[in-house]
Amino acid sequence: MTDCIFCKIVKKDIPAKIIYEDEEFLVFNDIKPIDKVHFLIIPKTHIESLLECDETNLEMLGKMLLLGKNLAHQHGLRGFRTMINSGAEGGQEVFHIHIHVYGGSEKLAKI
Ligand code: 5GP
Ligand code: ZN
Repeated sequence: MTDCIFCKIVKKDIPAKIIYEDEEFLVFNDIKPIDKVHFLIIPKTHIESLLECDETNLEMLGKMLLLGKNLAHQHGLRGFRTMINSGAEGGQEVFHIHIHVYGGSEKLAKI
């Protein structure tokens, strides 16, 4: 996807504060953090959203969640939140699937 901002981050065409990378995934800090720690986990392959996922994506989705837990621990979070916005009506703004992982505030804002 040439006009996808997250694909451009994968290709290093635009900069991001990358905190983890392997063959399958890239993790980088959100440009507008909503908490002390706030990063995004993406597959390097372009998939628009959770709406496009099915059973064939189970392993990828599971790996993304566990990666979030491990990186949250590495960043000093004993607890954290995960969020996946799916589709425009679900508040998604960047249409390359991503999991938000965030936390670190002393006072947890309840949703
Ligand atoms: P969404 O609403 O699609 O779930 O969230 C997209 C997230 O991507 C937002 O939290 C936004 O701050 C973040 N974001 C958008 N563009 C960029 C960018 O160029 N770099 C980084 N690091 N984050 C971005
Ligand atoms: Zn993309």
